[in-house]
Order: sequence, then structure tokens, then C-alpha cells
Amino acid sequence: MQPDDGRRRLELERLAAEVLGRAGYEYIETPVFEDTELFARGVGEATDIVQKEMFSFEDKGGRSLTLRPEGTAGVCRAYTEHGMHKLPQPVKLWYRGPFFRHEAPQAGRYRQFNQIGAEALGSDDPTLDAELILLLAALLERAGVRSVRLRLSSLGSPGTRAAYLEALREYLRAHEGELASEVRERIDQNPLRAFDADHEGTRRVMEQAPRLLDRLDPEDADHFARVRELLDEAGLDYEIDTTLVRGLDYYTRTVFEFESEELGAQRGVGGGGRYDLLVEELGGPPTPAVGWAAGVERILLASDWHEQRPAPDVFVVVAKPEARGAAFALVSRLRAAGVRAEMEQAGRSVKGQFKHADRIGAPRVVIVGDEIEIRDMASGAQRGVAGVDEALEAVSS
Ligand code: AMP
Repeated sequence: MQPDDGRRRLELERLAAEVLGRAGYEYIETPVFEDTELFARGVGEATDIVQKEMFSFEDKGGRSLTLRPEGTAGVCRAYTEHGMHKLPQPVKLWYRGPFFRHEAPQAGRYRQFNQIGAEALGSDDPTLDAELILLLAALLERAGVRSVRLRLSSLGSPGTRAAYLEALREYLRAHEGELASEVRERIDQNPLRAFDADHEGTRRVMEQAPRLLDRLDPEDADHFARVRELLDEAGLDYEIDTTLVRGLDYYTRTVFEFESEELGAQRGVGGGGRYDLLVEELGGPPTPAVGWAAGVERILLASDWHEQRPAPDVFVVVAKPEARGAAFALVSRLRAAGVRAEMEQAGRSVKGQFKHADRIGAPRVVIVGDEIEIRDMASGAQRGVAGVDEALEAVSS
């Protein structure tokens, strides 16, 4: 990683803190590794993540631990463990940090990557679904992500979903001969995956397949309609995609994914949805919740802004070796006074130091030698000052 990349990451984090903080989301950190069981239950045993992608290891006590593959399970665990259900609801949280998945690395897909995520726990109000979607849209826009597309759907409740999955399995079995072998093998375990297949025959079969969105309970359908209304009123474009399948098992009702056409095969920049049963599933009280996670590296890949290295307010030139201590004391005092100050630290000649000050964009230079002088870099005007105190005052003003 280069300093330029670091600056962009910091700026993105700052944007997230600003965009989310304004909506009442507070920052939280959870451990980078936790009990394997938390993720296995939280993400879902049948998912690719749990089956193939977790970095799991045993500690010295023989317990199985896992490097977190996603953030929601840890947030739910923290919500319950720290009694956040006793706080005024909803509890709104955001996080950022490294996540780990054992996938084949390619452009935009890494084994260690960073996510920024946001969660609202303790209410099923559709304004939270809409709010979170709008906040992610705002963050992506502020971050300069180009060619963004939003796909939206609803998965309904577990009862509807179970009945639907059975109907889908029946349909897939009736067309077994036309399906790709990996889809056929997973009809029982994960029939929804069939919607994701690239295989030509499978795609043809799926065009006529039953859709969950047509079978939602009236309450879920109403919830989804309200989310859509709120997004429409906010003027946010989206596509309803009945085939939207997220890689995590815990979603209920709203699901969404933002993609960028700028990216290749790994085009998802962020996504999420409602997970009304997860906190309870993990041993907490019944707690409806909704959230998303966005990939930091993908956001940066899909945007092309650069953060300039910030220019110092002043560069301190060491005019002779004996003045190094005085120059060092001056930059320390300048920094303590809130001035962005740098000094010569690489053995350059005096001429080289001026060139360097110019290159890094310092508007002023303090020359510390037998005397102390201040030079304005734009005009070239140079004047002497009586001592360090006067230099400090002149430069800090
Ligand atoms: P998910 O938790 O799978 O919904 O992922 C949320 C976001 O994290 C995705 O939209 C990507 O931007 C990012 N992401 C997921 N997996 C990876 C990975 N292996 N490498 C880089 N970014 C990833």
C-alpha cells in the first residue's frame, strides 16, 4: 500500500463518519476473531462463506476460532452481550475494519479486505431500510464511485420463504435434466443459487421459475411497498431484481446490492438487508434489524479521485549543521501551536532544501542559521526576525 492509497482510505473513513454520524450512527469495534460457532450460526451453515471461505484455527485451549468474514454477527453478539436492547431503540451503529475470506484472489477480491458497515437494531420501521440504503448511496456518491446501479428486492419472512423454496425445488427437480450439475447437486441445500448460474440451460429454466416476490405475505409486501415509496420520494433510482440472492443466510424482507459498472467480475461495492431474526438466533432477545456492508477496496477501485499530500504551512530550512537543534525545537513548537510544519531531515544542501520546500508546496520557509529569516515562497520576499519567538509568531499568524 502506498501513501496515496492510505490518504484515500482515511478520507473515505472520514466521509463515512460524517455521512453516518449525521444520521445518528455511532462507531463500534468488534473483535477481529471470534468463536467459529458465532459465524457458522450467524452467516448460515449452508453458505459458501461458512462452507469454504472461513479462516478457522484452534487456540491453545482447543477452541475453534475464526477470522471474521463479515461484521453483522459480531455486532449482534455485542448488542446482546452489552445489553444494548436496554438502550433507546433503534440502536444505530457503524464499523470499519479488516475482514477475511478464503476466496481465490482476483481484481477486487482479496483474502483480507476492508469493509465499512452500518446497522440499525431494534426496530422494523421501513424508514430504517430506506435510510440505510440512502446513506450507502450518499457515501458512494461522496466517494466518487462511478456508474452505480442499485438492485432491490424482498425475501419476505421465513414461512413464506420455506414454502417458496419448496416450490422452487419442485420446479428445479421437474427440469433437472436441463440444469448445470453444480446447480442440480444443490437443489436441496441451496436452490436459490440457481438464479446466479451462468450456465445457459439453467438460465433458460430460471426465466420461468417461480419468484419469491410474487408470493410475499401481505405484511411483508406492505413493508416492501413502503420502503420503495420512501426511496421513490427521495428520488433514488433502483431496479427491482427478483433474483437477488445474497451470499449470507440471515436476511428477511429487504435485500439490496449496489454495483459499479466500472468494476469487472467483482462488481458489488456494497449490499445488505434486513435480518429480523438473527439477534434471536444468536441467543439475544427478539430484535428486528437492518444493515449493510461496503467494500473499501472496491469503492476505491471504482472511483478515481486522488488525495493530494497536504502541503505544510511552513518548511524549516537548516542553513548550517549547527542549527539543526534550533530548527528541530522550532518545528516542535510550531506543531504544538497547531501549525503544519516540516523540516529538512535527509541531508540536502541548502539549495536542495528550497527546491524540496517548493516541491511539497510550502508557502513559507523559515531559514535557521546564524540568523533566522522567513521567506515567502510565492514572492521570494525574505526578512529577518529577532529570534525563535518572533519566527513562531510570524508563522502562526
Ligand atoms: P458481503 O458481506 O458479501 O455482502 O460483502 C459486502 C461488500 O464487501 C461487497 O459488496 C464487496 O464490496 C466487499 N467484499 C466482499 N468480499 C470481498 C473480498 N473478498 N475482497 C474485497 N472486497 C470484498
